[in-house]
Amino acid sequence: MNGKYIMSLDQGTTSSRCIIYDRSGLQVSAAQQEFAQIYPQAGWVEHDPEEIWRTQISTAKKAAEKLPGGAADILAIGITNQRETTIVWDRRTGKPVYNAIVWQCRRTAGFCDVLKTENLSEKWKEKTGLLIDPYFSATKIRWILDHVPGARKAAEEGHLLFGTVETWLIWNLTGGKTHVTDYSNASRTMLFNIRELCWDEEILQRLEIPASMLPQPVPSCGICGETDEAVFGHRIPICGMAGDQQAALFGQTCFEAGEAKHTYGTGGFMLLNTGKDIVTSSNGLLSTIAWGIGKDVRYALEGSVFVCGAAIQWLRDELKLIGSAAETEEIARGVEDTAGVYLVPAFTGLGAPYWDPYARGVLTGLTRGAGRAHIVRAAVESMAYQTCDLLAAMKEDTGGEIRKIHVDGGAAANDFLLEFQADMLGQPVYRPASIETTSLGAAFLAGLAAGMWQDQDEIRASRLKDQEFLPEMDSARREKLLRGWHRAVERSLRWAEE
Ligand code: ADP
Repeated sequence: MNGKYIMSLDQGTTSSRCIIYDRSGLQVSAAQQEFAQIYPQAGWVEHDPEEIWRTQISTAKKAAEKLPGGAADILAIGITNQRETTIVWDRRTGKPVYNAIVWQCRRTAGFCDVLKTENLSEKWKEKTGLLIDPYFSATKIRWILDHVPGARKAAEEGHLLFGTVETWLIWNLTGGKTHVTDYSNASRTMLFNIRELCWDEEILQRLEIPASMLPQPVPSCGICGETDEAVFGHRIPICGMAGDQQAALFGQTCFEAGEAKHTYGTGGFMLLNTGKDIVTSSNGLLSTIAWGIGKDVRYALEGSVFVCGAAIQWLRDELKLIGSAAETEEIARGVEDTAGVYLVPAFTGLGAPYWDPYARGVLTGLTRGAGRAHIVRAAVESMAYQTCDLLAAMKEDTGGEIRKIHVDGGAAANDFLLEFQADMLGQPVYRPASIETTSLGAAFLAGLAAGMWQDQDEIRASRLKDQEFLPEMDSARREKLLRGWHRAVERSLRWAEE
């Protein structure tokens, strides 16, 4: 192995990307390709697994070509991916038996309701850390076995394989030799016992999923296979893997318990490193595996909000109040406050910590003087308020202080948002020099296994300095604003119940 760079494959929901990093964690080459979203019915979302593979490998080759020595310069490969998305293929042909069923797809909602009536929720939460929901892979696999002609029989005869996206990519990269999943991705299937680090026989039995379909669970950091020679012309070890949110936690170097990251994307995702402890939430948060490095497994608490940056898209596309997301910063700064206006963007119900599918959006506190800038500012502030609610739930569940909060995602480019966030949390927030934390996390995991970095301290030391946003608001004003937000949330709850 004489390569100098780490290749990070970032297989997301709307595009496949490849970023190549050097030893100082700097990006030296990149390529990206979008692929089709397939919506066969309302509430259903699919991808073509072959297109996922094609676009991913084509970006990898494109990015490698830009290196002086081409792919020969690559020391190791890391992979991060959209989580929960489910692919089933035939091991004899390598062909998928159905499209990938994407994490957003709600087709198994009815079946999940049936499972909930069987009083399995508590027991399964204890084992898997998750709440029974169509979001996770388990009921999607079951759907494929029930609905694709011949699938159940082929699965029972041992011909079919299941994988989340990293599993599918690794299987293809290794020419069908390696069928593995890393602990962080396994922990999103609702089939994996996160305490014992194995597939749960009882859950498999209830869902009638043959164990022979399942990949071998492996640590997130460590060599799990090598690319087939046909792929890059020589073999490259694959040695870092993590689901996208966990990879971002690692990329933000939140290595210690008590460190959290929040991603302001279309939705919002907060993960708190809880170290070696599995914290069970009483506030609707999920417990999940952050990563496994050898035998050392770290856990996280996870909370998500459905509408984060999507509220800004709504201002732009529906209300036509703004031309671009970036404008919101200047507009928000143009007024002293929202003049009492609050936006609760519960467009698709509310996630953690409220979990009310019947909540709907509310714009409240309007007076005759309320105008465009106040509404725009209220939308930006709603991203911060929702983060406060997640963090409060995490504090309550862990009974401890959150030591450090790192932020990333598209809307983290907005300085006003981060200043307001620090004010409302009453503690600093940190933005990394590069907000590409997801692919960087996968690169760090691979580079650790391949010896590019000796340990996590060295990774941390290689990191450029974060930008720090400090709280300035007095606590009386902060509490008044938060009270207003919670009164507004109260008005959004249960709205669509009728
Ligand atoms: P995803 O990965 O979920 O597609 P990104 O992390 O790329 O999302 O973030 C995009 C989201 O961030 C969009 O919803 C957009 O409205 C919002 N956004 C982007 N830039 C800004 C900004 N400067 N201020 C506020 N919101 C922004």
